[in-house]
Amino acid sequence: MRIIPAQLPEDGLRLTGKEPADLEEIHDDVEIDKVNPVNYDVLAQLVSGHLLVRGALKTRARLICARCGQVFSHTVTEPDFIAEREVADPHQPVDLTSEVRESILLALPTQPLCRATCRGLCPRCGSNLNREACRCPPVTAPRGGAFDGLALQ
Ligand SMILES: [Zn+2]
Ligand SMILES: [Zn+2]
Repeated sequence: MRIIPAQLPEDGLRLTGKEPADLEEIHDDVEIDKVNPVNYDVLAQLVSGHLLVRGALKTRARLICARCGQVFSHTVTEPDFIAEREVADPHQPVDLTSEVRESILLALPTQPLCRATCRGLCPRCGSNLNREACRCPPVTAPRGGAFDGLALQ
């Protein structure tokens, strides 16, 4: 999102459009498969030497489920996007791409789940339990303490 502050009318300018996100290139520690371009709908204003941009961001991300590892599609919205930059030369374009990216990253779920009821993978055979019931015996906690039945000498 590039804005030339000198071109903004006094009461601000509404800007809508798309911003390429390319998040997978800058944050490979976050489990994102891919993020689509970010749609923005913001009001840009020059207020006493500061560029003020406020509005909403929305995109669709392909995330990796923390339980089953499947890639799923998720709508990411940031209704309260705010960016502020001090403007030295209002004729120089201000690039807010990094603010947009950062804001979308913060809006991503920290533990993405493909669905709230995701059953995850079987810890023994690795089957995706959302798709199939595996033949492993159910994991049950052992009854009593591990030392029950051991005679202390
Ligand atoms: Zn899942
Ligand atoms: Zn299993």
